[in-house]
Amino acid sequence: MFSSPEEVFEKEKKYMMQTYKRPRIVLREGKGATVKDSVGREYIDCVGGIAVNAVGYCHPVVVNAIKEQAEKLMHTSNLYYTEPQVELAEKLSGISGMDKVFFCNSGAESVEAALKLASKVTGKHNFIAAEGSFHGRTLGSLSVTFETKFRSVFEPLLLNGVKFVRYNDAEAIREAIDVDTAAVILEPIQGETGIIIPSEGYLKEVREICEEKGVLLILDEIQTGFGRTGRWFCKEYEGVEPDIMTVAKALGAGFPIGAMLAKEGVEFQTSEHASTFGGNPLACAAALASIKVIEEERLVERSRELGRYFMEKVHEDGIDSNLTVKEIRGRGLMIGLALMKPCGEMVEKALERRILINCTSDTVIRLVPPLVISKEQIDRVISVLRECVY
Ligand SMILES: *Cc1c(COP(=O)(O)O)cnc(C)c1O
Repeated sequence: MFSSPEEVFEKEKKYMMQTYKRPRIVLREGKGATVKDSVGREYIDCVGGIAVNAVGYCHPVVVNAIKEQAEKLMHTSNLYYTEPQVELAEKLSGISGMDKVFFCNSGAESVEAALKLASKVTGKHNFIAAEGSFHGRTLGSLSVTFETKFRSVFEPLLLNGVKFVRYNDAEAIREAIDVDTAAVILEPIQGETGIIIPSEGYLKEVREICEEKGVLLILDEIQTGFGRTGRWFCKEYEGVEPDIMTVAKALGAGFPIGAMLAKEGVEFQTSEHASTFGGNPLACAAALASIKVIEEERLVERSRELGRYFMEKVHEDGIDSNLTVKEIRGRGLMIGLALMKPCGEMVEKALERRILINCTSDTVIRLVPPLVISKEQIDRVISVLRECVY
């Protein structure tokens, strides 16, 4: 195959568009919260496939579910009924409190579906999103994504009636709503922008404003879903019910799948939306197994407890009093370490010590490890972080 990591780097450069900036390691296999590279070095992974690998790498329940389903039926199309899809829809409705599901293959696709659905249901085409928001890279989802560096070379984007308002300011949403507003779209915690947690009461207030003004509320739980924040979904912290919710990332434990969930009556009708692969039997079998593992291993509670343990330990060990660390914030195992300067150097130092961490919005270390990570592994991560603070 490849004789060395260098050969992989070279061919990647020659044959692939250079859309990703990656450290010079080649990951080959994983188990639980650790991954191994192609020369046998093992890392504790606090990136977790970007909040995807909640149940850990190669969980046997998920692996077996995929194997068994692959031997029966991988794909048939949505022209026919299949059992895993309907079973997953019922399951998702049960854990989320939403009524109806549309399946797709990624986060951005679920946001696309949500924007289309909101337009069709309200007959309006303007949206309100938050400064700092991240909802995906397709033209529609990019239209509600704030960051200039993701947008500028593609402008004008698909949706031109998008207003961005300050995150964590409900009144700003009230002021921005006009007669053409279809929906407000928000992340309950901003992930990509550096784990920004809004004040208590914010989402509830936004919900009330949307109700009052007759505007739909879309919650993007793509990153926060499936136990990441210590609840099945982050919306539970405020008891807020959105009209539409988007999920993906951890849903399939690494198998690509996304879903848009909505309340009764907020629905597409026949032929109004579709996806060839969306909710195919293999993806749904993986997602069903992933949810089963989260339930059986009580990973939602575990995320809550380990998140608390992580934060307490960090404070005890004094990383937070270091000059380079501005703030540590988190909910469950979705933790951000905000630095006073760019975190590139820290990411490299941690890698040398066999810990994978990732940097969001230049100065924030994002820690979203598999929820199966152990206390001992967390202790090791914290001691490495302390060594790497510079
Ligand atoms: C990752 C992410 C997306 C985009 O998901 P993709 O699967 O990469 O398209 C959208 N919204 C949020 C909040 C995300 O974290």
